[in-house]
Amino acid sequence: MTESTTIRWEQDDTGVVTLVLDDPNQSANTMNQAFRDSFAAVADRLEAELKADPDAIRGIILTSAKKTFFAGGDLRDLIRVTPGTARDLLDGGLAIKRNMRRIETLGKPVVAAINGAALGGGFELALACHHRVALDASGTKIGCPEVTLGLLPGGGGVVRTVRLLGITDALLKVLLQGTQYNARRAQENGLVHEVAATPEELIAKARAFIDANPESAQPWDRPGYRIPGGTPSNPKFAANLPAFPANLRKQTAGAPYPAPRNILAAAVEGAQVDFETAQVIEARYFVELAAGQTSKNMIQAFFFDLQAVNSGANRPQGIEPRTVRKVAVLGAGMMGAGIAYSCARAGIEVVLKDVALESAVKGKGYSEKLCAKAVSRGRTSQEKADALLARITPTADAADLAGCDAVIEAVFEDPSLKHKVFQEIEHIVAPDALLCSNTSTLPITVLAEGVERQGDFIGLHFFSPVDKMPLVEIIKGERTGDEALARAFDLVRQINKTPIVVNDSRGFFTSRVIGHFINEGVAMVGEGIEPASVEQAAAQAGYPAKVLSLMDELTLTLPRKIRNESKRAVEEAGGTWPTHPAEAVIDRMVDEFGRTGRSGGAGFYEYGEDGKRAGLWPGLREHFTKPGHEIPFKDMQERMLFAEALDTVKLLEEGVLTSVADANIGSIFGIGFPGWTGGVLQYVNGYDGGLPGFVARARELAERYGERFTPPALLVAKAERGETFTDGR
Ligand code: NAD
Repeated sequence: MTESTTIRWEQDDTGVVTLVLDDPNQSANTMNQAFRDSFAAVADRLEAELKADPDAIRGIILTSAKKTFFAGGDLRDLIRVTPGTARDLLDGGLAIKRNMRRIETLGKPVVAAINGAALGGGFELALACHHRVALDASGTKIGCPEVTLGLLPGGGGVVRTVRLLGITDALLKVLLQGTQYNARRAQENGLVHEVAATPEELIAKARAFIDANPESAQPWDRPGYRIPGGTPSNPKFAANLPAFPANLRKQTAGAPYPAPRNILAAAVEGAQVDFETAQVIEARYFVELAAGQTSKNMIQAFFFDLQAVNSGANRPQGIEPRTVRKVAVLGAGMMGAGIAYSCARAGIEVVLKDVALESAVKGKGYSEKLCAKAVSRGRTSQEKADALLARITPTADAADLAGCDAVIEAVFEDPSLKHKVFQEIEHIVAPDALLCSNTSTLPITVLAEGVERQGDFIGLHFFSPVDKMPLVEIIKGERTGDEALARAFDLVRQINKTPIVVNDSRGFFTSRVIGHFINEGVAMVGEGIEPASVEQAAAQAGYPAKVLSLMDELTLTLPRKIRNESKRAVEEAGGTWPTHPAEAVIDRMVDEFGRTGRSGGAGFYEYGEDGKRAGLWPGLREHFTKPGHEIPFKDMQERMLFAEALDTVKLLEEGVLTSVADANIGSIFGIGFPGWTGGVLQYVNGYDGGLPGFVARARELAERYGERFTPPALLVAKAERGETFTDGR
C-alpha cells in the first residue's frame, strides 16, 4: 500500500481515524493527482483494515491542516483541458467519485470537520461525509461557486445537493448562483449539520457524532429514501418544471453562459435515476463545460487574472508597503461620499471636506444610510456601524486636514477647480501625503501641474456606486513616481478593492473603451435599426446594462462635452478627429429634440414622473428609422464587442495599458464587458478561430460598417505570429 503524503492518517486508541488533508507541496489542498492517489490509497487502507477487523475503526474524521479545508479542483489543470483530453478528465473524475462513494458506504460514520473554506471540491468532499460540522470563523466559506467559473460541481456536488436539499433548493441555494455561505448561514440552509465555536469544539462534535452513530449511512442510501420536494415523475413537481428554464433565461438574459443550463440538466436528469447513473450524467455535463471555451475564459479572468492584478504584478517592486491612517476626501458629492464610506469601512480615519459644512454632513449621510441598511439586514453589528461612522469627520475647514497621509479629490470635473482645491490643502496635509484625483477623464499630467510635489500626484479612478464597484483604475501621470504608484496600489488594496494600473491618456482605459460600446449602440439607432433590437443585442451579448439606457444614465451632454474637448485637443495638436457616426445622433437628440438623458427627464427612453423608465422614445423610430433596414443580430452584438476589443488593443499599442490581466479585469469589473468572455482581450484570444479568426471578422465588419473596425497593427502581427494576448506569466 502506498503511504499517503497528501492525506495524513492519524489513529487514536479509541478507534477514531483522523484524515488530515495536508498537501506538502502547496499552501492549499486541491484535487490534484497527488490527492487523487492519496485518496485512493486511504480508501484501500480503510477497507482493508475493516475487512481484517470490523471493530478496528469506529469512525473517521476528515479535517485540514491548512488555512482552507480544501480548495477544490486544480484550475491550472482544468484550463488546459481540450476536447481531446476530455476523456481522461471524465475517467479521472469518475475514479475520484468512486473513491468518495467507497468511503461514504463503509458502514462507519464519516464526519467532515470543516475548519476553513470548503468551496467547490472541498464542499463536495464534505457532502460525501455523513455529518458536517463547520467552524464559525471568518475564513469558513461553504458552497459550490463553480458556476461563476463556467463550470458545475463535477465531484458529486450536483447529485448530492439534489438528494440532500431537493431539486429546487439545490439549484436556487447552491448550484445556480454559486453562493458562498459562512458557517451559520450554511447551517440555516441545510448545508451543514452543526456549527462549532472553537477548533476543539469542532473535533469534540465530530467525535460525539461518531459515538452516537456507530453505523452511519447517507439518507439516500437508506431504504425508502425519496428526494425532498419530489422529482419530475411526480405530477405536482412536474407542473413547476417549466419555471426553471424561464428563471434561467432571467439569470443569463440570453447571454452565452452554458454552465447554468448544464447544471439544470444534470440536476433534473440525475434526480430521475439511481445514484450511480446520476454521477455519470453529472460527469458528462461537467466535462462538456470544462472542454468548452467559456469556462476557460472565466477561469482565466476570475481566477488567474484577478489573482495577478490583486497580488501586485503591476506594483513597483522593492518599495515598502505603507498603510494609510487618515485620508482627506475633497468633495462630498456622489463619488466623495462613496469613497469616504469605503475608506472608513476599511478602518481609515476620513476627513470629508466640501465647500459648505452642510454639504459635507450630507455626504456623511450616505454612509449613515448604508450602515443602517447593513445593520437591518444583519450584515454588520450596530457597534461596528457606529465605529465606522465615528471615523468620518465632515468639515468645510481646510485646517481639519492636518496630518492626513493621503488625499482623494472628487470635486466637479473642472481642471481649474481641481488645481485650486489642491493648492488650498497641499501645505496643510502631511508633507509627504499621497495626492490622488478621482477624475474620470482629465489627463493626470495636466492636473499634477497644480501641485508642487508632482511626483506624489496620481489618478485614482473609482466607479459608481463606489461601495459596490470593486475596481479602481490607477493612472500614472508623466511625472508620477514609483513610490506614489506603490502607495496608491497599497491604498486600493487596503480598502479591499481591485487596482488596475494604466498610463495617462484622455479617458484612460475604462472611460475611453466604454465610449466605443455606447457609440456603437447609438450609431445603430442612427442607421435606422430598431432601437429595441439594439438593446436586446447588448443584453444577449451579456452586457449588464443595455446600451441606450446606459447612455441615458450618463447623460448625452457629458460625453458630448468630453468629445468636443478631445476633438479640440486633437485638432490643436495638428491631428484629425475620427468622427464617429454616433456623434450626429447625439447632436440631434440634444439640439433638435432637447433629450439629454435620464436626469433631463427625456433621452433615448421616456421617463415617468417618478423618474422611472417608461419605454423607448417612439420618436426614435420616426426620426431615425429606415423602414426595412436590418442587419444580422450577430453583427449587432459583435459591433459592440469588437469596438471595445479593438480599441483596447490600440491602448496596448499606445502603452496606456501595459498588462493583459489589467485589461481583462478592468473591462469586466469596471465597465461591464460580458463576464463569459473572460474580459476584453481574452475575448479576442477565445474568438472562433483565435486571433486570425478575430482579424478576419474585424476586416469583414470594417468593410460593412466602417474603417473603425480595421484591426490595429499589433493585433495583425500577433495573429500572424500565432500568439495570443497573455502577460507571459
Ligand atoms: P458631484 O457633483 O456629485 O460632487 C462634487 C462635489 O464637489 C459637490 O458636493 C461639490 O459641492 C463639491 N465641491 C465643489 N467645489 C469644491 C471645493 N472647492 N471644495 C470641496 N468640495 C467642492 O460629482 P461626482 O459625480 O461625485 O464627481 C466628482 C468627480 O468624480 C468628478 O471629477 C467626476 O468626473 C469623477 N467621477 C465621477 C463618476 C461618476 O460616475 N459620477 C465616476 C468616476 C469619477
